[in-house]
Amino acid sequence: MTGKPLNIATLAVQAGLEPNAPDPAGHARPSVPPIVPSVGFTHPSMAEADEALGYGGGTPFDPARYAYSRYGGPTQAAFEEAIAALEGAEGAVSFSSGMAALHAAVLSLVPHGGTLVAAEQLYGMSRALLDWLAAGRGLRVHTVDFLDQEAVRRTVEAEQPAAILCEVITNPLVRVVDLDAVAGIAREAGAALLVDNTFATPCLLRPLERGAHVVLHSTTKYLNGHGDVLGGVVAGPADVMQAAYQLRKMLGAMPSAFDAWLALRGLRTLAVRVPQACANAQRVAEWLAGQARIGRVWYSGLPGDPGHVTARRLLSGGHSGSVIAFEIAGLDRAEAFAFVGRLRLIRPITSLGDVFSLILHPASSSHRALTPEQRAAQGISEGLLRLSVGIEDADDLIADLAQALGGS
Ligand code: PLP
Repeated sequence: MTGKPLNIATLAVQAGLEPNAPDPAGHARPSVPPIVPSVGFTHPSMAEADEALGYGGGTPFDPARYAYSRYGGPTQAAFEEAIAALEGAEGAVSFSSGMAALHAAVLSLVPHGGTLVAAEQLYGMSRALLDWLAAGRGLRVHTVDFLDQEAVRRTVEAEQPAAILCEVITNPLVRVVDLDAVAGIAREAGAALLVDNTFATPCLLRPLERGAHVVLHSTTKYLNGHGDVLGGVVAGPADVMQAAYQLRKMLGAMPSAFDAWLALRGLRTLAVRVPQACANAQRVAEWLAGQARIGRVWYSGLPGDPGHVTARRLLSGGHSGSVIAFEIAGLDRAEAFAFVGRLRLIRPITSLGDVFSLILHPASSSHRALTPEQRAAQGISEGLLRLSVGIEDADDLIADLAQALGGS
């Protein structure tokens, strides 16, 4: 080895494996981490068991300190090690869902009575969680349009938040938030910047390298990528990971060993799946933009998109992600549903980032928890559709969209 940091494609395949570490018992080692479903762990003595039960978590987790599977386990630790390596973080803590990860990250960064400044442009349930925490549950939350840097600066200066939360490629309109500018504002205010990196993945963006403090993912999406695991993860400095670990222990939001193993297996092909899905999305977005019946397409890979220049600066490989938002001219909810119903290949599923292409109607699914006014403020209309492009052949996807469009 040269000592040069490893690239993402190598980390995605190798991190969390430790193939050359000696086994303390002198046994041959498996080439992939085992699934360890055990709830309990035994120790050589009661004194060591006592120490393990009192362990406060660590980055990486000390394998001598496993005690009870709600606290931590070796399969989950292998996944966490891989995520920490991919995001360039001191450590990571995995969760049973992206929402659990977000909840723990916010509570780890913002003390009771403290303030969070959050982007208006967030996944609908993330926004609903913040509204719930702000409704008499000890958190002050201010949401602001993160596409307006001056508004963000003014709000942060006025509110002096403990933390700032945003997505860089936003759900569902895939707008691009200028992470460099937001990181500068956070740094000047001494606030911790928490980035939901679900839509970009570490293949396109490593937020910690650009000034973010903590990063989180719904691993349900690209990191697993196969539509068969619900999960989340938070990655960042050791002190925040310690707090997130304690919350996971108390809330019981631990992923199962099997889910952690599946997510780690999915992660191995991340650096192949993401560029392919992005290349397909670029073709599909260009095709959609050329259709007279399509009213508007949001995708930062299109030169006319307002996020195009920022995306080229922030996102690696000239990619813009694999999610596209679009409106068919004049469509209302019923017509949008009918259009989705005519698709044969692209599946109507409330998720994204899978190997197969998915479409959803944000107003009735990802952003259902918002009030109609909150949706309108973000530009989420009744006719808006969000397409997560998979790794099928782009020509087949375009043909499917064309036949569904032709029939409306
Ligand atoms: N963050 C983003 C950007 C999401 O899109 C989602 C879910 O769609 C979540 C967080 C929540 O993740 P999960 O569904 O795994 O709880």
